[in-house]
Amino acid sequence: MIEFVDISLGDGPQVQCGRCAGSPERAAFRSGAEVVEEAGAACKGWSRGTGPNIRLTGAEPFTHQELPRIVAGVMEAGCRRLAIDTDAVALRSAQNAHGALSAGVRHIRVTFLAGTEGVHDALAGMPGIFDSTREGVAAYRATADAAQLPVSITVAVPVCRHNLRDLPSAVGAAVEAGADRVEMSVTDGGIDLAAAVPWIVAACDTGVVNGVWVEVGGVPFCMLAGYDMHLADAVRGRDGSKPPVCTLCPLDGVCGGAPVGASADQLALLAPPPFAAKLAPQIARARAQEVC
Ligand code: SF4
Repeated sequence: MIEFVDISLGDGPQVQCGRCAGSPERAAFRSGAEVVEEAGAACKGWSRGTGPNIRLTGAEPFTHQELPRIVAGVMEAGCRRLAIDTDAVALRSAQNAHGALSAGVRHIRVTFLAGTEGVHDALAGMPGIFDSTREGVAAYRATADAAQLPVSITVAVPVCRHNLRDLPSAVGAAVEAGADRVEMSVTDGGIDLAAAVPWIVAACDTGVVNGVWVEVGGVPFCMLAGYDMHLADAVRGRDGSKPPVCTLCPLDGVCGGAPVGASADQLALLAPPPFAAKLAPQIARARAQEVC
């Protein structure tokens, strides 16, 4: 697993569930100099193994007027792998795709809220965005292939109460779009985790049968028995909510618990699983290897 340090370009409209996030905000970008300075400090202090690796997140990068200067500055600061979070709409232009690749952007992450344009567009509140994103991803991949440049495409699938039934098809769409991996992440504290698990399992299976790894964030080990190696907690820490009983669980030190803001009813579902004592040292070893 390649680790990236996230550096925000600022706040602004993003592809996210409008029912959870409300109306999109107006873009408020940080200055290019500020972003480059933070990225430079992250490169200088890198201690996570192979890197330094920076991912530009936050507001859509291709609408930041200083993007070329930022990308150049981050690469000059010693960044080894540069990733961007994008809706990929700008990458439909061969010129933009070529420019991004030439500048060193070899990793992109796009967001799918569902597997069909109808559901994705409706949740995002952006008509036509699903097709545009897929076109942009395809153009980026085609431009990279033509230039014989290896690239990595990640599809993020945020999991909320509004898209549970679409998780398997979202992974299927990611496979079709040529994704190398899928990051599925539960961030909705109000979600019914027990109801979500079968859909998350089906989404993992969809990825596995199609040769694309699905990583799951925001779900504790005791809720996803048998799929522990899919859990992001297996390789890195995260913030979450836990009931007091977690202090008795051998996985306590490596498990983030339920998503932040989980209700008392959700926390009551969590209990040390029978496999915890056996799994805990395996996870600790996996974590140690990740930072080597
Ligand atoms: S009981 Fe707590 S620490 Fe143990 S796996 Fe469940 S959420 Fe994680």
